[in-house]
Amino acid sequence: MSQPPPTSAFAPTPDPLTPDRDITHAHFQAGDTVVVLKGVAGGELWGDAMRVVAPSWHALTDEDGWRLRDATGGAQSYVTAHPRYLVHLSRRCPDCLIYLRAMEDALLARFAGRDELIDCGWYTTTALGQLVHIADIGGGR
Ligand SMILES: [Zn+2]
Repeated sequence: MSQPPPTSAFAPTPDPLTPDRDITHAHFQAGDTVVVLKGVAGGELWGDAMRVVAPSWHALTDEDGWRLRDATGGAQSYVTAHPRYLVHLSRRCPDCLIYLRAMEDALLARFAGRDELIDCGWYTTTALGQLVHIADIGGGR
């Protein structure tokens, strides 16, 4: 993860992997450091690093989620996310690395040669602090 470059762009892009990712709630635990991938910046994947705080219900998917703390989140320092949105940063984790590498393969070539921060537009945060992937809006599951 690198510091975001000063310029940014919004580039709606299909998420090739996250909606179908198979990862259990128990894969994560309180205290883990994770990242939610949001796009590409300077030739690397970019996202928000957060700390796992406690189990929490993810209302939009009606499944078990995790309460996360975003140290730079300001008014929305706490959000609840589905486990499939999360990638481990705090330990070398084969399951998360496979997902990370696959996301790199899918995205880095697509945005090759662009230095600005590119937000692929996959996530929104509801007024109730629920982080929601665009694929999970509308109750499709
Ligand atoms: Zn992991």
